[in-house]
Amino acid sequence: MTKRFLVLALTCCFLPTFFSFTDPGKKKKAVQTIIIDPGHGGSDGGAKGIFSTEAKICLEIGLKLGKNIEKEMPGIKVLYTRTTDIIPGYKANKSDGLRYRADFANKSGADLFISIHVNAAPKIRHRVPNGYKYVGKGKKKRKVTLYRTYYTPNPAHGTETFVWAADESGHKTNMIKPEDEFGETDSTLVAPDMNDPVMKAFRLLYAKKFFQNSVQLAELVEHEFVKAGRLSRGVKQRNDVGIWVLHATGMPSVLVETGFISHSDEEKYLNSESGQVEIVRNITDALRNYIGYSEKEPAGTKNSSKNLPDSKDAKVKSEFIDRKQKSKING
Ligand SMILES: [Zn+2]
Repeated sequence: MTKRFLVLALTCCFLPTFFSFTDPGKKKKAVQTIIIDPGHGGSDGGAKGIFSTEAKICLEIGLKLGKNIEKEMPGIKVLYTRTTDIIPGYKANKSDGLRYRADFANKSGADLFISIHVNAAPKIRHRVPNGYKYVGKGKKKRKVTLYRTYYTPNPAHGTETFVWAADESGHKTNMIKPEDEFGETDSTLVAPDMNDPVMKAFRLLYAKKFFQNSVQLAELVEHEFVKAGRLSRGVKQRNDVGIWVLHATGMPSVLVETGFISHSDEEKYLNSESGQVEIVRNITDALRNYIGYSEKEPAGTKNSSKNLPDSKDAKVKSEFIDRKQKSKING
């Protein structure tokens, strides 16, 4: 009797546990918490356009994105690094703001980090002959051409999504050097010591677990931009100080450059209600696909290019994939 009771009691105790492991309905969601990080803020206005600043656009898009995710994916918790025009955490400077962003993300235990930014390209400098003058005296007198310098707007436009360059296998040449590209370079920023044990741990964790997922989400975001008719400049990897926050967060993370504030049409688009709504819709759709793929496949089996939707009509250039294949061919 006692024995039978014991068996019954044990069964009652363990059955629910057993079923909770096997019930697919109770499976842990791939993404439960998302951090939205509107770039810049406060005294750090970011890039400037003719009539707006990057910080303002990032905040507007970031807040709209969060609201839309909460509306369309009710189970997901959204956290923001800032919701007003401040450097996150009310920090005094950009570097402390970046550190706060990473700390905030890590303490929150989030599953994804999405940073919203706006690109800028420097004006193009032209130098044309503009008359002449004589210099020197007597026999040394000679004619010297004078030049006039003027600047025209840079035609660069479109979107690009960055991931931190994991660089665990010596693919240093794959990375985009800040001086080669437009955008987020800022020599006043100080990156943390990458040999610091905490940073080292994050770097390894990112390379092992989160890099591939970050690339996948980045590709999906660019794919949606292309579907909406935007020009995609591709998925890119970088690891300069401006984006170290991406790998300092212990989770997949992307930095979306939503357009060029230095391009007059795009500045208008980025500031318009319809433009912001479209960008938010694109990122939300990408997120939905990312979550769909993440929940379909067991962890560690991801292959970003395999999981991409058929992109016959919407070709997204992925520098990472292209270059990695190239480096494989070269050995
Ligand atoms: Zn920025």
